[in-house]
Amino acid sequence: MVGGGNSALEEAVSLTKYASKVTIVHQFDKFQAFEHAIEEAKANPKIHFVMESTIIAFHGMDNLESVDIKNLVSGETKKFKTDGTFIFIGYIPNTNFLKDRVELNKWGEIVVKSDMSTSVEGVYAAGDSTTKRFRQVTTAVGDGTVAALAASNYLYELKVKQKQLITV
Ligand SMILES: Cc1cc2nc3c(=O)[nH]c(=O)nc-3n(C[C@H](O)[C@H](O)[C@H](O)COP(=O)(O)OP(=O)(O)OC[C@H]3O[C@@H](n4cnc5c(N)ncnc54)[C@H](O)[C@@H]3O)c2cc1C
Repeated sequence: MVGGGNSALEEAVSLTKYASKVTIVHQFDKFQAFEHAIEEAKANPKIHFVMESTIIAFHGMDNLESVDIKNLVSGETKKFKTDGTFIFIGYIPNTNFLKDRVELNKWGEIVVKSDMSTSVEGVYAAGDSTTKRFRQVTTAVGDGTVAALAASNYLYELKVKQKQLITV
């Protein structure tokens, strides 16, 4: 697991249900997560910590086999065998093309209301790129359902309005 925030630590604890050993690689000497998340991870005997370090290379043929971990203080690099790597070091939503068109927050996430409508009438958004607390497949799918129903309703109301205008 790469990262030191809440997501990294919580997912590391989650992974211990399936993995015999989970190693958290973090670039700083302290975590940025909530205290309870840090305590839970530290109390888990399957979790190991490699602090002030970063992965500089991934190796493998069909699957990942090892990574090179560089200690940022000593500069020393070690090969580390692993079956998988989960990266939780934050993300940048690919929403640049919406800048100045749809309201985004300071992290570039699309600001949505509860029906997934955006600042622009008729434009709906769903999933990880929107302002939300929990980013999971199930919440993205739920957002998509709400956005599709709201968009469909918007089109229906638009048609009704147009019909009324024609009648008048
Ligand atoms: C390491 C990791 C592990 C995770 N594990 C879990 C888990 O165990 N369970 C769980 O529920 N969730 C998990 N998640 C979260 C889950 O993957 C996301 O919440 C979910 O995929 C969000 O769905 P989405 O459709 O919003 O975004 P995405 O799945 O990211 O889909 C967005 C799609 O849009 C495409 N795209 C981007 N920009 C453009 C563009 N300009 N034009 C066209 N297409 C574009 C991308 O290529 C991508 O295919 C994990 C996430 C990570 C990073």
